[in-house]
Amino acid sequence: SEGSQKIAILSVYDKTGLLDLAKGLIKNNIRLLASGGTAKLIREANFPVDDVSAITKAPEMLSGRVKTLHPAVHAGILARDIASDEKDLAEQNINKVDYVICNLYPFKETVSKTINLTIPEAVEQIDIGGVTLIRAAAKNHTRVTILSDPEDYHDFLGELDKGEVTEKSRQLYALKAFEHTADYDAAISDFFRKKYAGDGLQQISLRYGTNPHQKPAAAFMREDKLPFKVLCGAPGFVNLLDALNAWPLVKELSEALQYPAAASFKHVSPAGAAIGVALNEVERKVYMVDDIEGIENSGLAQAYARARGADRMSSFGDMIALSHEVDLPTAKIISREVSDGIVAPGYSKEALDILSKKKGGKYLVLQMDKDYEPPATESRTVFGVNLTQHRNDAKISPSDSFRSILVPVDSPPLPESALRDMTVATIALKFTQSNSVCYALNGQIIGLGAGQQSRIHCTRLAGDKADGWWMRFHERALNISWKKGVKRPDKSNAIDMLCSGTVPDSGVEREEYEKNFETVPPPFTQEERKAWLQRLSEVACSSDAFFPFIDNVFRASRSGVKYIASPVGSQNDQAVFSTADKLGITFVEQNIRLFHH
Ligand code: 5GP
Repeated sequence: SEGSQKIAILSVYDKTGLLDLAKGLIKNNIRLLASGGTAKLIREANFPVDDVSAITKAPEMLSGRVKTLHPAVHAGILARDIASDEKDLAEQNINKVDYVICNLYPFKETVSKTINLTIPEAVEQIDIGGVTLIRAAAKNHTRVTILSDPEDYHDFLGELDKGEVTEKSRQLYALKAFEHTADYDAAISDFFRKKYAGDGLQQISLRYGTNPHQKPAAAFMREDKLPFKVLCGAPGFVNLLDALNAWPLVKELSEALQYPAAASFKHVSPAGAAIGVALNEVERKVYMVDDIEGIENSGLAQAYARARGADRMSSFGDMIALSHEVDLPTAKIISREVSDGIVAPGYSKEALDILSKKKGGKYLVLQMDKDYEPPATESRTVFGVNLTQHRNDAKISPSDSFRSILVPVDSPPLPESALRDMTVATIALKFTQSNSVCYALNGQIIGLGAGQQSRIHCTRLAGDKADGWWMRFHERALNISWKKGVKRPDKSNAIDMLCSGTVPDSGVEREEYEKNFETVPPPFTQEERKAWLQRLSEVACSSDAFFPFIDNVFRASRSGVKYIASPVGSQNDQAVFSTADKLGITFVEQNIRLFHH
């Protein structure tokens, strides 16, 4: 009888393999019901098939917009093997559907292949009934088999020929069906986001990706508005990577230490980061801000002066993040430095006026929503593979993150300045490409080694930068007499050569170097360097993971390090701790590993 015969509903856009499938279903005594085009093809091949309208008693309507949308279809698919469902079906004279074979209008392909596709054309590619068929069948997969991929017909028929489709197969087909409709809906919302969201609100097109040939490129949110507004300029992909790492850094730093905070980013790692500890006269000179009016009253300006001053050479063309509304003194510092852009929660009118004139009006100015909290889970795609994880939302704070070890019980607590500097260094590392090691002093980074494959190379790189930073406080570096017209970046490069001890003895490079000066400062001798570096002390050093060998401790000690904060757990822990002890360094456990990629 009709009631006991199993029923398959077929409605496919992609008709690949359809006739073989129909043949196999019929061989297994399954009744075929199909929508217009699908039925036509099966019929033309002389297989028995009924139109869906045979059970709906309603014709296809609205030029195909309504084909299978009907209780006779969907109650038949969704009914469970329970008495109340059986009763409902019997009352309406509806038969259960056991198999659904459906794939969707090719929205994605049409949108990607058709140039100048109009919105009405795209709208017609939005499958409604098919998605409903697929979702209904997938929902009821404990009883119903859903085939949404012609690739699966062969194995399905193999199982059917042997008796019945297994539960495991029904589950896998259902999963695939859900992935299929999710992907389909994502393609539709992608299309309309581009058309309707407006550039800059929920999505923003970017000039290009990481490199100029990587087009198109965009940033977007799935549900909310973007957490930032573009006040000036047009962001690039790397600008946003920098901004979205630098902003949470300064936010966390400012909250942890209750100071305004600043960061200067390059290639998704900080070149400098700092809180607004007051600058003394010498620092103002070294950081080239001694002529900035009102700087002594702006914690934010002093924070940026420190961040930019950590490694002036690396900060060339930086992306800046500031924790507080940007004021006039801060904008004045930025206005004469080479920089790519800035992100901050707000701008005073005068500050925005200055910044939006930078780079001929192309300077990137982003306003961040300071209350924005990202979701707990973050994902990205690398080489087509989706990676997902809980965001690194572990908080670093001076009161909770640091515990000294190997220190006698009656020893004094860690000084506040050391806790402050360890906090600065550690929060900086949380947003630095790994491996990473950071030296900090006076509330700022003084040397950071990022993105090295070995820890000792990070420790050396950061140590060499800290040394270079300290050499800039030497009389000779402070009192350079520059040739008239030498630009700030050239000054920074020349100072870096002098202070890092890389001035060549002779040759063209030496000639170029000497062109900068009225009176050429002689290179530092070994003895001069050593003597000056011995005066660097009280430095805090933090590492994003444990130190595997004692060489790191020796190197840190040569750059005035008095405190080391790092995760523990190396086989060499004891040797590392006792080396620190021998060198008069307080070793502090910071118990959260902070790899960042
Ligand atoms: P056919 O070629 O059989 O006429 O149409 C098959 C296509 O129609 C399939 O891609 C299927 O997803 C879609 N489809 C099935 N039912 C409906 C419906 O009620 N409305 C719309 N718009 N599409 C449907």
